[in-house]
Amino acid sequence: MLINKEAYEQITTVLNKNKVQLVAVSKTKPVSAIMELYELGHRDFGENYVQELVDKQTALPKDIRWHFIGHLQSNKVKYIAPFVHLIHGVDSLKLLVEINKQALKNAKIVDCLLQMHIAGEDTKFGMDESELNEAVEKVKSEPGNFTHIVIRGLMGMASFSEDQLLVRNEFRQLKVYYDQHAKSIPSMPWHTLSMGMSSDYSIAVEEGSTMVRIGSLLFGERNYQQ
Ligand SMILES: *Cc1c(COP(=O)(O)O)cnc(C)c1O
Repeated sequence: MLINKEAYEQITTVLNKNKVQLVAVSKTKPVSAIMELYELGHRDFGENYVQELVDKQTALPKDIRWHFIGHLQSNKVKYIAPFVHLIHGVDSLKLLVEINKQALKNAKIVDCLLQMHIAGEDTKFGMDESELNEAVEKVKSEPGNFTHIVIRGLMGMASFSEDQLLVRNEFRQLKVYYDQHAKSIPSMPWHTLSMGMSSDYSIAVEEGSTMVRIGSLLFGERNYQQ
């Protein structure tokens, strides 16, 4: 076994009880490991790197829902637009415009989450509150320029910290932003708050997460040297 089936069953039991969706984060892991979860019925997988995602999408069953959870560069949107299910890390208007353009080319609607910078560390990507307000206003006031994207909600990463109260407060702040804007764009009511990873998903669920992104608990630690 390349996956921790027991952990998968425990996690999904908790998540199902709370109606929270699970994105299994498979970055750096082989397609054989993804197939093991697939055989258990799992369909939502998350990847951080465009080339790796494209290779896996080509190799794996076409009913997998692929989530792009990494930092997306505008010039790479075209590679994932044809098949991606949800882009979690949209952190600029420029990127949103490019996603709309590529979605239009593929004659499809691409679902997006805006990524918020909630952690104290400045190493993590994401918008601040004023950038969020600006993006929401823009999409609302210029619907003709955003015909092929739908913003479904927000995504964020808490600080990588042992301090549970700090992590909790960061998630709580993200939920505040989410509630503030959940109905701001009448044509795009929000339903997805993507927060929580292996180390902090329990806290995230308590704070109102609707979608967690879990890698190492399911697939084991990642080895970037390979
Ligand atoms: C890698 C990654 C995850 C999963 O992290 P784990 O700690 O392995 O659960 C979740 N979200 C993002 C954005 C990631 O890059």
